[in-house]
Amino acid sequence: MIRHHLSDALLTGYSAGTLPEAFNLLVATHVSMCDECRVRLQAQDAVGGALLEDSAVMAMADGALAATLARIGDDAPETPAPRPASPGIFPAPLQDYVGGDSDAVAWRSVGGGVRQAILTQAPGSSARLLYIPPGTAVPDHGHHGTELTLVLQGAFHDETDHFGRGDVEIADEALEHTPVADTGSACICLAVTDAPLRFNGLIPRLLQPFLKI
Ligand code: ZN
Ligand code: ZN
Repeated sequence: MIRHHLSDALLTGYSAGTLPEAFNLLVATHVSMCDECRVRLQAQDAVGGALLEDSAVMAMADGALAATLARIGDDAPETPAPRPASPGIFPAPLQDYVGGDSDAVAWRSVGGGVRQAILTQAPGSSARLLYIPPGTAVPDHGHHGTELTLVLQGAFHDETDHFGRGDVEIADEALEHTPVADTGSACICLAVTDAPLRFNGLIPRLLQPFLKI
């Protein structure tokens, strides 16, 4: 039972093909686990398609913008199909990216029993896997940009709520938190971070990924 979902801005950005690779990975992985977000993403794809076909928008656009809009269709990733649950812990998009399940990951200790593996690191965005032993806390921290944490196994809680398998926590600069893994089983998460993502208001939020404002 997933209670914490992706934001509209993330689904729109994914649909438009303008998210950093790390965010694409997390969105695809959550959507493969979540019927609700798969339906929302299909709706976003329809909005994006309608926008591209709107000749008024194309007429308004200068050359560079028109080229950007024309390119979006090529760049946009496919909506991940619901796939049968893959054997193991990682959903299929993550298994494809890692080249296997959690036993294929090159885990490194970061102290206190916590382990991590960096999957991709680029200026402005990174993705890593975290392994948190049962009952263990990750040192409290704030955020410079946006941090998304997707639970793959076990569960954790922090000052805001409780997060189980499939849940996404969306943290920003305003949040300072201390995630603690539930007792029982280790918590394995996919965490991605990025600085520039900021969205205010419905219209800019919908258009920003298309127009790269
Ligand atoms: Zn969802
Ligand atoms: Zn955090």
